[in-house]
Amino acid sequence: MSAYFRPVLLTLLLSATFEARLPAQAWRGLVDAHVHHNGDAAFLDKMIARLDAVDGTAFLLTLPKDLESVQAAIGKHPNRLIGFGSIKLDDPNALAQVERFHAAGFRGLGELSGPLKSFDDKTYAPLFAAAEKHRMIVLFHTGIVNRTNPDVPADISVDRMRPTTLDNIARRYPKLTLIGAHLGNPDYAWAAEVARWNPNLYFDVSGSTLIKKQEDYAFFKSVFWWSGIASPHTPKGGPSAFEKLIFGSDVFGGELEEFDRELERYGKMLDVCGVSPAAQANIFGGTLRKILAGAK
Ligand SMILES: [Zn+2]
Repeated sequence: MSAYFRPVLLTLLLSATFEARLPAQAWRGLVDAHVHHNGDAAFLDKMIARLDAVDGTAFLLTLPKDLESVQAAIGKHPNRLIGFGSIKLDDPNALAQVERFHAAGFRGLGELSGPLKSFDDKTYAPLFAAAEKHRMIVLFHTGIVNRTNPDVPADISVDRMRPTTLDNIARRYPKLTLIGAHLGNPDYAWAAEVARWNPNLYFDVSGSTLIKKQEDYAFFKSVFWWSGIASPHTPKGGPSAFEKLIFGSDVFGGELEEFDRELERYGKMLDVCGVSPAAQANIFGGTLRKILAGAK
């Protein structure tokens, strides 16, 4: 076969695999841990239709101003939507907002981003203590972040959102479940290592990473290296190291092609890395369903 046809054939094979997988086992009961609500009801309808197709659920990241409308939407679609409160850690009303979101049935907080101090600064202790008490999951932005309005001065630093800042929080609050978004882009190795020893810490790999690494998905085997290695240096009875990942699409309104593409990228990366169907089922929803049911 000529060198020209080989990539074409590979693409055809991969897309055939993708189509075969779409309604398949790995994506039934999907949990998407990272859906930004943009306040648009039409977006929510489209998202719910996507989730209906796979009997899925989304963590809907909700600003305090949208609490009531999202609460109503959750009431109508309790199997599809789970509310997360997008508070600002430095807001003087943050603790009151945590209590409000909790009272309204929201199951988590986030995406937390743009803190004025490092995520693990002790100033934020009352917020994480409240989240732990209420068994709320906390989704943190980690790694590089865009500049939404480059002309406006902003006291934001990626250095305060390094994945290593989650290590200290995970250890201080052992009953708190933490999710770091974007696998710490580009601190992948550090993100995986802090997740390795913290049973209550997971990462999604949403954002630009799976695009940046699309020619080298096997790279992730070097980051999640400890599958099946029994030694004093790896967690006991550990499943696939890749089970420190959970699915997140990071969609924020508009059309949902990006949701489909992110599912496809996750699937391809996990296939290239040889992750078993059972482990993939946990990554695409099983792990978070267990945590939500209080069984993990
Ligand atoms: Zn983010």
